Amino acid sequence: MPTASTPCSPLPNQPTRRSFLRLAGLAATLPVLSEGHLAWASMRESGIAPALDPTKAVMINANENPLGPCAAAIAAINRSAHFGGRYDPNGDYEEMFTVFPKVLDVPKNYVKVYAGSSDPLQFAVLAYTSKDKPYVTADPSYEAGMVAAKSGGAAVIKVPLTPTHAHDVKAMVAASPNAGLLYICNPNNPTGTLTPKADILWALQNKPKGSILLIDEAYIHFAGVPDSLDLVRAHQDVIVLRTFSKVYGMAGIRCGAAIGRPDLLARLDAYGQNPLPITGLTAAVASLKDTELVPTRRKIVADTRNDTFAWLKEKGYKFIPSVSNCFMIDTDKPGKQVIAAMAAKNVFIGRTWPIWPNSVRITVGTPAEMAAFKTAFAEVMSA
Ligand code: PLP
Repeated sequence: MPTASTPCSPLPNQPTRRSFLRLAGLAATLPVLSEGHLAWASMRESGIAPALDPTKAVMINANENPLGPCAAAIAAINRSAHFGGRYDPNGDYEEMFTVFPKVLDVPKNYVKVYAGSSDPLQFAVLAYTSKDKPYVTADPSYEAGMVAAKSGGAAVIKVPLTPTHAHDVKAMVAASPNAGLLYICNPNNPTGTLTPKADILWALQNKPKGSILLIDEAYIHFAGVPDSLDLVRAHQDVIVLRTFSKVYGMAGIRCGAAIGRPDLLARLDAYGQNPLPITGLTAAVASLKDTELVPTRRKIVADTRNDTFAWLKEKGYKFIPSVSNCFMIDTDKPGKQVIAAMAAKNVFIGRTWPIWPNSVRITVGTPAEMAAFKTAFAEVMSA
């Protein structure tokens, strides 16, 4: 069983504590950061060595999907792996560009596919922010864009969420007349809360001239609400990010996309584009063809989340109701202490955010994982 002192080696490209802290300041070079990097770096910072084997530990720290890829995606990966010596021998790239834009209901040239959404997130931030064009984000929110903006020399302006945990779009727009990019994570990571469509429209109509809205819909499938692709179809100054890492369970397989007007997307090209893994492409296409996947998984996650919320309420713990696969609990004591105590019980929960040091993020795991979470959390909180 892993303990707080179990040695473990970093995953490839994973920042150590020192390198993460350097990244969070002003980095000279910038590896693309993902939730996995941020989750692991935060654990290292607290002196916790996460278990490497998710079958032996409860890993609800990185907003992963324990269901993994769907059966059709796994079959497609198995077929595709045999052809892995070649770049694109079966036309997977072409098929993705036939299937995905249709599902999104946008023209083909409004979609750019990447190995996950971390690349286009970072590239969009680097393309649209600079020394004179600040990056505006909610607080707390997903930090990867903020780190990219700092590395490009842009000022980062953090605007606290509203009392209902939506993005405070009026304050975000007012934050800088020169802003280059306003980042709207909907539903938000870490709170799992939504920003109303009317607010997003207001931000679009009132944002600084020349800026864009980067609307990160990594978790939109869990919420079952209208997305922002209508704004893309209306050729607005909006780039929407999508990923196959969350509801589709492909975080380790990698596929994601930026969706927007071709002239907006063209500015991301300056930062390069690797060939895509054929396993990721074929698994994404297979997942998109499984029309039951999204509603089925949305219900599975909602049922487990709502069961956990009922338990938290019954025990009197404070939490923020979420529509996503993660949520925040106010622990009334330093969140980092709670994280360390939970890790000692082999339950690895998510990080804290500086604005809310007494809150921790929990990812919705399987019912068995959440049962283990409840037992450990009750013990830690009553200690
Ligand atoms: N955006 C948000 C809000 C996330 O939480 C994450 C990862 O958790 C990402 C983007 C990047 O994910 P990926 O690169 O796996 O698509």
